[in-house]
Amino acid sequence: MADTTTPDIIYTKVDEAPELASASFLPIIQKFAKAAGVSVGTRDISLAGRIIATFPEVLTEDQRQSDDLAALGELVKKPEANVIKLPNISASVPQLVAAIKELQGQGYALPDYPEAPETDADKAIRAKYDTIKGSAVNPVLREGNSDRRAAKAVKAYAQNNPHRMGDWSADSKTRVSSMSGGDFRSNEKSKTLADEATAKIVLIGEDGSETVLKDGLSYPAGTVVDATFMSAKALDAFLTDEIAKTKEEGTLFSLHLKATMMKVSDPIIFGHAVKAFLKPVFDKHGEQLKAAGVNPNSGLGDLMARVEDMPEVKADIEKVIADRAPLYMVDSDKGLTNLHVPSDVIIDASMPALIRAGGKGWGPDGKEHDANCVIPDNSYAPVYDETIKYFKETGKLDPATAGTVQNIGLMAQKAEEYGSHPTTFEIPHNGTVRMVLSDGTVLHEHSVEAGDIWRSASTRKAPIQDWVQLAIDRQKAEGCEAIFWLDETRAHDAELIKYVKPILDTKGVADKFKIMAPREATRASFETIRDGKTSIAVTGNVLRDYLTDLFPILELATSAKMLSIVKLMNGGGLFETGAGGSAPKHVQQLMEQNHLRWDSLGEFCALGESLQFLADARGNEKARVLGKAVDTATQGILDNNRSPSRKVGEPDNRDSHYWFARYWAEALAAQSEDCDLAAHFAPIAQELADKEEAILSELVEAQGKSVDLGGYYHTDPKKTATVMRPSATLNAIIG
Ligand code: NAP
Ligand code: MG
Repeated sequence: MADTTTPDIIYTKVDEAPELASASFLPIIQKFAKAAGVSVGTRDISLAGRIIATFPEVLTEDQRQSDDLAALGELVKKPEANVIKLPNISASVPQLVAAIKELQGQGYALPDYPEAPETDADKAIRAKYDTIKGSAVNPVLREGNSDRRAAKAVKAYAQNNPHRMGDWSADSKTRVSSMSGGDFRSNEKSKTLADEATAKIVLIGEDGSETVLKDGLSYPAGTVVDATFMSAKALDAFLTDEIAKTKEEGTLFSLHLKATMMKVSDPIIFGHAVKAFLKPVFDKHGEQLKAAGVNPNSGLGDLMARVEDMPEVKADIEKVIADRAPLYMVDSDKGLTNLHVPSDVIIDASMPALIRAGGKGWGPDGKEHDANCVIPDNSYAPVYDETIKYFKETGKLDPATAGTVQNIGLMAQKAEEYGSHPTTFEIPHNGTVRMVLSDGTVLHEHSVEAGDIWRSASTRKAPIQDWVQLAIDRQKAEGCEAIFWLDETRAHDAELIKYVKPILDTKGVADKFKIMAPREATRASFETIRDGKTSIAVTGNVLRDYLTDLFPILELATSAKMLSIVKLMNGGGLFETGAGGSAPKHVQQLMEQNHLRWDSLGEFCALGESLQFLADARGNEKARVLGKAVDTATQGILDNNRSPSRKVGEPDNRDSHYWFARYWAEALAAQSEDCDLAAHFAPIAQELADKEEAILSELVEAQGKSVDLGGYYHTDPKKTATVMRPSATLNAIIG
């Protein structure tokens, strides 16, 4: 059970690699913070924790857990909020099902996930599970806009220690393919509401019947409301065409979506790709597959499991896959393809990795090949298309000399597409979708066909204004180029521009900003950083996500080291640790070799910001001293190359925590602003230094053997602590 009083700083309990890292790092934070009278508590937003909190009625008293996500959702609306948010799993259906199974195995009497709910009871269970699915955490916590950039020390380190980049050649066959029409981009309509309004979404059938898809929507005055759809027919035609072209071109077929965050639309698009790729199989065995409960949206992995005892179907699948262009692989050793699980290839991480590698992806033969990067919708695909074209023309980026692209992202209150899941529908039959206001005005209307994916997204006025102001402040602080990545020919962006321009004019800063469509902004930004300069990308919510992986992965090798601050609109602070995810591959390595290659630099950066924010918000000068010393310690980690190695037997995440604690204690002992803190930390620093050899040998000796964490999604805290804190000497100092 979480404590009931709110700690000064909340450190979220999450999943996978960052949660393992916390088992080692959090005790150090708590020990140091206590000396300054700062309490650091946890709140559980892990996938398993959220499942448990959702079904108290079927669990025993001991098993029950408070709904920490809901509590945090309230906290972030208050000025005292100070939350360090680590990356958590955005669960796809296969992950959700696996987590439920694991919990059931641990004695939690949870209901199964109803794949095809028929009864009302099953439908109710499914609705509950659906609130946990996909990106269910970040939209609740992000009550503010986002400021992401590489801290100066991190950028300087990357320039002095440039990572390897794959070469780009002009004749690379790698390219991005997108639909030529019928996609979300081309069907988009957008309007700004003059007054507050309530609305419903209805589907009028060809026979005049009316189905209410959603009722009771309400928007404050000034909200930008969009509606659009992707045509299923156009999508299928596009996919069929690209599957054939990929084969002709001799490249890998790769599909890049965001099935985690876009949890309703993108698994459907993914399912279309699975069906298109295996079309001969679905044509021939459609009935049998249906009877086996196959849902293409869950991927080839789920499909294969369901046809396990159907040799004829299996043989046909293998034959089709052998006939087609080779698939881009998630893990070629294990035969895991791009189409196995909808959440294995996530566009914001996958495209930059492919670009960093010189336009190469892994094929089924375990070798690198050029790829056709299929990104069906055109809204943001031009960013990757232009990046690839630019590198083909100019060659790879040089991280030793490249400047940096910072980001100010519009994110608050579920802005834009990332808040559109409750208003996204797979259309059941032909007709017209109308968005109707309570006074009868038809705000938007589209004529649609069965299978089309229709959605509405909205963006509120206060977040837009806050975002523009944040951009103005950041540009002033940096004094560099700043670009609003907005496309005046796109319906939604045109509405945003109507907000942006007058604010810039009123503040007298219009000359400091450019407004450019994503494709042009991409090229302009690469040209700027190639000259070693800085550019601020002021973007909407999706590009906030994409660009804060793309540029850091090219500039710094990873997005995990980003400073990622959310200035909450009601005054609090949310400090995200980097811009990356929960690195599932790292967990596998830990389990097999007891080596954790997770880099906690994102946590270090966030901790420093959080402490300094606490100092500002509460006038706690001890917290300021502690925070400044964190920055010194982070610098120490970089200067002395104390970040984790990728290889077993070499220093890992736990070693970096030892070094961080030591540098932190040394910085506190050396500072002269607070004598009490200096006196408190001097002996700790001394002991950490004196016992270096013992600690490091205890840490390295632990490596090399497989370990048991008592679970994957719901690990045993005692077992995890034993694995993650193997140095008795260090533990004695930390307590
Ligand atoms: P990812 O977790 O960022 O992993 C991609 C790769 O990035 C990793 O395999 C690893 O590369 C590298 N990486 C990321 N963080 C690292 C760190 N701290 N230290 C060292 N290397 C790091 O992205 P993903 O595979 O797309 O997503 C995995 C899960 O994270 C999904 O469930 C997704 O929903 C979730 N996610 C959450 C957030 C969030 O909560 N803010 C954001 C993004 C994704 P190597 O394997 O080469 O070491
Ligand atoms: Mg991202």
